[in-house]
Amino acid sequence: NHTSMKIIQIPLLRDNYGYLLVCEKTQQAAIVDPSEAVPVLRRIEQAAVTPVAILNTHHHRDHTGGNEGLLASRQLRVYGHKSDQARVFGMTHGVDEGDEIEIGELKSKVFFIPGHTTGHVAYLFEDNLFCGDTLFTAGCGRLFEGTPEQMLGSLKKLLALADDVKVYCGHEYTENNLRFAMSVEPNNAKLAARYEQVKNLRARGQSTVPATMAEEKQTNPFLRWESKEIQASVKAAMPDSRLDPVAVFAAVRKMKDAF
Ligand code: ZN
Ligand code: FE
Repeated sequence: NHTSMKIIQIPLLRDNYGYLLVCEKTQQAAIVDPSEAVPVLRRIEQAAVTPVAILNTHHHRDHTGGNEGLLASRQLRVYGHKSDQARVFGMTHGVDEGDEIEIGELKSKVFFIPGHTTGHVAYLFEDNLFCGDTLFTAGCGRLFEGTPEQMLGSLKKLLALADDVKVYCGHEYTENNLRFAMSVEPNNAKLAARYEQVKNLRARGQSTVPATMAEEKQTNPFLRWESKEIQASVKAAMPDSRLDPVAVFAAVRKMKDAF
């Protein structure tokens, strides 16, 4: 008996996704990662909902650039990791691992998942995960401010979530991510099938986000450090690499950076 929730995906900038989360009971809404204000405001008006909060996953401009415009004519709670007060415009609520947030009658749990940036968080509403640039569909974010150890720890936290959790990430990168995944694990049949499916969706201009955690576990090379085929690809590209989880993850990340 969950309170019903509506999720509206908003394409922003070149390949970003912002989201409008609506508590259907109260018609209160939160905006996840507004890259820019104008298209978000248009969507809020169309949906006839009352915005009450901004949920920022991390400080990058393509996730916070709309904060100022959204706050110009209304007061909203602004959430981000507590360490990013100086980097997230208008932040009113610094949060951390395990905190709970309410939007109308919807409840969300906060995960602290550093690696892409030092202050990255994810928000889990029931079975819906808003994870910014940490876990991408079929990929993961670049390590701009964190270490492979940190990022692996963050991905392991998300890996512990149930198979039916839906992954709402910050960008439409799935097709390119899968092209890379195929290069390191070409004999993964589930991966090949997903790649075909995603190519078809993109050819028709459709979104490939969200995906399920089950799909990610089966096909995302950054969650598959146990795969013998990925380990062999790492060994072939970097003969000196160790094959423990951190080393495999770090090597795959490096290979993707150069892909
Ligand atoms: Zn980012
Ligand atoms: Fe981003």
